[in-house]
Amino acid sequence: MRNMEKRRAYMKEYSKKYRLEHHTELLLKKKIYRDKNNEIIREKQREYLDKNRIQAYTKVREWKSENKQYMRSYLYQYYRNLDNLRVKNEFRRKHYYTISIVQKVFEDNIKEFGTLTCIYCFSPLEFGKDTIDHLVPVSRMGDNSYENMVISCRVCNSTKGAKTYEEFGNWIIDTNNKKGVYNETAI
Ligand SMILES: [Zn+2]
Repeated sequence: MRNMEKRRAYMKEYSKKYRLEHHTELLLKKKIYRDKNNEIIREKQREYLDKNRIQAYTKVREWKSENKQYMRSYLYQYYRNLDNLRVKNEFRRKHYYTISIVQKVFEDNIKEFGTLTCIYCFSPLEFGKDTIDHLVPVSRMGDNSYENMVISCRVCNSTKGAKTYEEFGNWIIDTNNKKGVYNETAI
């Protein structure tokens, strides 16, 4: 009896050593076997899962409840990525604008003011010093539709920054009030 145990222990030790020494070789053999018997293996796996579905699910459920923290962060990341993708696609779709729309914006501005003019400070603009401004900034999901685009000078455009049209108006009134001047024509 003792001999049996000894032999078993020896075999265990030996096979462990063998596996360690022939690691890559064994992996390759396994891979070849798997590639050859792909369908049989899959069939067996399916059979096993059919028989042990409940146990398998319980195991998964157990693992999930033991690793709640991990699951939470994983799901958070997953949904965040999904959200980002959705927003990105939407942004791309909206961010695409055509030359004809831009042309129309320019023509409208000239029609309204007689010459190319900044809609915020009403200063006439030389060609090439104009910029296209978004009433609702692109960074705040504003799109490139005809309704959202206006002509402005570079100074107004960069001062407006990420403010909306209304916010920019309030901002001008606020700053003028602080300076002690109220400028009705500013906006
Ligand atoms: Zn301006």
